[in-house]
Amino acid sequence: MKFKKAFAGIGLLMAGALALSGCAAEGGADGDGGGDAEVVQQEFPEGSTMAALQADGKITIGTKFDQPLFGLADASGLPSGFDVEIGKLIAAELGIPADSIEWRETVSQNREPFIQDGSVDIVIATYTINDTRKEVIDFAGPYYVAGQSFLVPAGNPQGVVGDPGPDDLADIAVCTVVGSTSEQNVRELNPREVITVDKYSDCLEPIRTGQADALTTDNVILAGLVDQNEGEFEVVEGTFTEEPYGIGLQKGDDEFRDFINDVLEQAYDDGSWASAWESTAGTVLPTPEPPAVDRY
Ligand code: GLU
Repeated sequence: MKFKKAFAGIGLLMAGALALSGCAAEGGADGDGGGDAEVVQQEFPEGSTMAALQADGKITIGTKFDQPLFGLADASGLPSGFDVEIGKLIAAELGIPADSIEWRETVSQNREPFIQDGSVDIVIATYTINDTRKEVIDFAGPYYVAGQSFLVPAGNPQGVVGDPGPDDLADIAVCTVVGSTSEQNVRELNPREVITVDKYSDCLEPIRTGQADALTTDNVILAGLVDQNEGEFEVVEGTFTEEPYGIGLQKGDDEFRDFINDVLEQAYDDGSWASAWESTAGTVLPTPEPPAVDRY
């Protein structure tokens, strides 16, 4: 709880090593907390994605496996975090219990392909809604809005700032993830070097060895990594982008997108969105107001 204040103000220093593993797992163990949502039986239009998933009694959800607070897999490959809780809320409204969700690891750059080729039914993975992605998939949401910032060694030896101007990164080597908005956004600021990896957790070692000066991505992902690695890192104050998190689904499935948006709005109203936050990201971060969903 003490970190809520730090996040709003001066930066973060935090705790704990957690195992990462696995590619896919079925199950609904709560991990970080979060009670499983009550499974609802309702009637869906014939031929709809909702009816098909309900009939199957299972859903495959792509999420991150290396991001504490949002999607972090335990030793058995079962993830926990805010994104995972949002997935459980959606599954419950389809009549699917948490232990019948198949969780599939998605990294930043395979999210659209996994949705397009049917490897997953939906992606909930700190996934920014933007027009480029909307050319090939659709998004429900947003259900949270993050902002891009920097994780640096504790004490911020290079004096990295959270909202850099055109020359501020001229001496800075940044590490980020391929296929992310973070990569695109930071390249526009012309850092000395951009080191790209597949997952944000892979940026920590380059920072430890001095190969990279900073890791850049969404502030809430950074907060989770600081929390996981006690005393080693901090998040600098400030952000320089807006990252509205959406739920990725196949392009053109308006009925399914409407359904997910309805589930989100209901979760805003009945307190289950806030409970999902409090039991996961809210253990470290302040509780925000939920954003309005965009029924484009
Ligand atoms: N939200 C950004 C994105 O979707 C960065 C975080 C991530 O890569 O998951 O690209």
